[in-house]
Amino acid sequence: MQSIGDIINVLETEAPLFLQEVYDNSGLVCGDANAPCSGATTALDLTEAVIDEAIARKHNLIVVHHPPIFAPLKRIAKGEFVSDLLIKAIVNNINIYACHTNLDNVLWGVNGEIAKRLGVTQTRVLVPAADTHKKITTFVPASHLDSVRAALFAAGAGKIGKYEACSFSASGSGNFKPLAGADPFIGEIGKIHTEPEERIEVIFPSHLESAITKALFSSHPYETPAYDILGLENNFHEFGGGLIGNLENPMKESDFLSLIKATFSTGIIRHSPLTNKPIKTVAVCGGSGKSMISSALRNNADIFLTGDLGYHDFFSPNGRMLLADIGHFESEQYTSDLLARMIKEKFPTFAVLKTGINTNPVNYFL
Ligand SMILES: [Zn+2]
Repeated sequence: MQSIGDIINVLETEAPLFLQEVYDNSGLVCGDANAPCSGATTALDLTEAVIDEAIARKHNLIVVHHPPIFAPLKRIAKGEFVSDLLIKAIVNNINIYACHTNLDNVLWGVNGEIAKRLGVTQTRVLVPAADTHKKITTFVPASHLDSVRAALFAAGAGKIGKYEACSFSASGSGNFKPLAGADPFIGEIGKIHTEPEERIEVIFPSHLESAITKALFSSHPYETPAYDILGLENNFHEFGGGLIGNLENPMKESDFLSLIKATFSTGIIRHSPLTNKPIKTVAVCGGSGKSMISSALRNNADIFLTGDLGYHDFFSPNGRMLLADIGHFESEQYTSDLLARMIKEKFPTFAVLKTGINTNPVNYFL
């Protein structure tokens, strides 16, 4: 049987915690990562109805997008919304895990799910995150170039965009003198040895650092391999907020709004004045995306689809772009499908099911 921690590992491999925003509180909200997991229910929000559903399903894990503890919690007292949820979860032995902005900040996450459903392709991150990658440089005897490089690749190094197995190598000479007590792969104790070596440089996502160094030490023939790890300031377009991509065939604004309405079952779409230009380039940010309006404009999006916009936000496009607020819940509703799929792909026989409850707290009086 999988443990709660096994399920968390799957989620954090796809959406590593280091990608969450500083204000966020993703991770295990309450519970025990070492406990066995009887099944998982996925939802956008935690509500009492979702906890009741998990209890009825005999699932002891609920994976949500929005962390129930977000603002600092000063007390757990019955009668308050968050407290009641936590008390109910703890009393019923329900573990809660939140996968929030770390899932917003991967290209295949919340926004990838929106893009896929609207037929948006050639996608890239709208606001790339910084400090997501590092580079490892090491020096190996020429005989071990392929095997060390293969071990680094297998641990997740060497992926850049749609390319894998990326590395640079150059030939040179390594010099060293083994001291008494050393067990050198090559060379003699007390004598300076010169060995033809290859310098290998390869990049990797920062969160994989321990796996990468483990792969280096287990594949490198030297007793004490020489290596450097450096942080990179490059922007990589798989990690960051929002997403931008293209429609295969341009659409009329009204047709694209109809497509959004049908796809997301929105009660209403609030939008800025029509620009009377066809929609080809589409930017999206599930949830609250007002901070990315200027990025969407800078990247020449024809439409920016998000939620939680305020009155004044609708002035910003100034005729250059269509701005559409489709609702916070509506834009992120398919995240529960995504979370369930992430777990199912790794553990096909594990009991995971998205919630059947509509947790949208916003209602429309039509
Ligand atoms: Zn949200």
